Amino acid sequence: MQNSTMNEAGPTKSRFEYGDDDETIEEAATGSSNLDEDSSMCEPGDADKTSADYYFDSYSHFGIHEEMLKDVVRTKTYQNVIYKNTFLFKGKVVLDVGAGTGILSLFCAKAGAKHVYAVECSQMADMAKEIVKANGFSDVITVLKGKIEEIDLPVPQVDIIISEWMGYFLLYENMLNTVLYARDKWLVGSGIVLPDNASLYLTAIEDAEYKEDKIEFWNNVYGFDMSCIRKQSIMEPLVDTVDQNQIVTNCQLLKTMDISKMTSGDASFTAPFKLVAERDDYIHALVAYFDVLFSVCHKTTGFSTGPRSRNTHWKQTVLYLEDVLTICEGESIVGSMTVAQNKKNPRDVDITLKYSLNGRRSVISKTQQYKMR
Ligand code: SAH
Repeated sequence: MQNSTMNEAGPTKSRFEYGDDDETIEEAATGSSNLDEDSSMCEPGDADKTSADYYFDSYSHFGIHEEMLKDVVRTKTYQNVIYKNTFLFKGKVVLDVGAGTGILSLFCAKAGAKHVYAVECSQMADMAKEIVKANGFSDVITVLKGKIEEIDLPVPQVDIIISEWMGYFLLYENMLNTVLYARDKWLVGSGIVLPDNASLYLTAIEDAEYKEDKIEFWNNVYGFDMSCIRKQSIMEPLVDTVDQNQIVTNCQLLKTMDISKMTSGDASFTAPFKLVAERDDYIHALVAYFDVLFSVCHKTTGFSTGPRSRNTHWKQTVLYLEDVLTICEGESIVGSMTVAQNKKNPRDVDITLKYSLNGRRSVISKTQQYKMR
């Protein structure tokens, strides 16, 4: 990790600093142990917002949009894709899935789209309407407040679906399903989805200091054994930035998804991996990250959230290993990663990691479970 003061709150706070852990709060509020599918993303209601409302509806607060807009890797890539490929947009009908402030819709309108439907389920839809008006695009952009799964689109078909749906570890939040739903319902046969390609990668890092601070800490807290919390903390992937000097092995592609063709079931998978050590070192964690591509552009455009690329608000996802692996150059960690939607809350992701190292200094074979929530 680059900075131990970063993201002290845990694994999934950066994009959700206004609250994402709806399960705990909702449980407390209702006594129910289960959840509505997407209570945190799309809470209706026009009354004045309180902090509790924001907790359930983080996308209604401008802070989360500020963070996304200021992620220039993210936002500039979308802007370049649109402004440098106006041939894709001229005269076309566009659907912006999860429009937020409306930024992608504004880019599309400026690039010459015939009409843009900007669908946003949070209260931010009201702001998007004002923003569209203030910038003189009311004729071209129609903001629709509601869930994609529930709205009536005024047209039967669209030519382009654009969305920024990616969550931590790519799949956390499960907004991909919403994009696939929109694609299957409204996209014309020759239509395009932007982005159209997303890939998940895995690598292994040395991370002694941070593992000590975040995981082993619980073994001895002011002289007391709190190792029951260690068990929980190791199960929660940590979202944080990894320094590229920590990388010990190659980076392995786990899974590529073609957003224009895949089904929602394809987002649950088991992928094998082989990570070969590029130097003698200790391994404390595996690290996952993703790339997205817009391959229909004149020149393929995209961005990576990997540790060797400029940081984004997605950072990387760190999965700590129970034991430290002592690995020699050329030896490999082989295994598989299984990724699945959580059955109780489909926005959460369950990860199973199987790995083994048959090395000169470490012989180990293990299965570990992780939960992104
Ligand atoms: N397009 C904006 C916002 C991206 S964040 C930008 O690039 O800055 C994703 C947005 O999708 C959030 O504002 C969230 O409220 C919205 N969203 C998530 N699920 C949705 C659904 N099912 N229907 C409509 N909007 C949704």
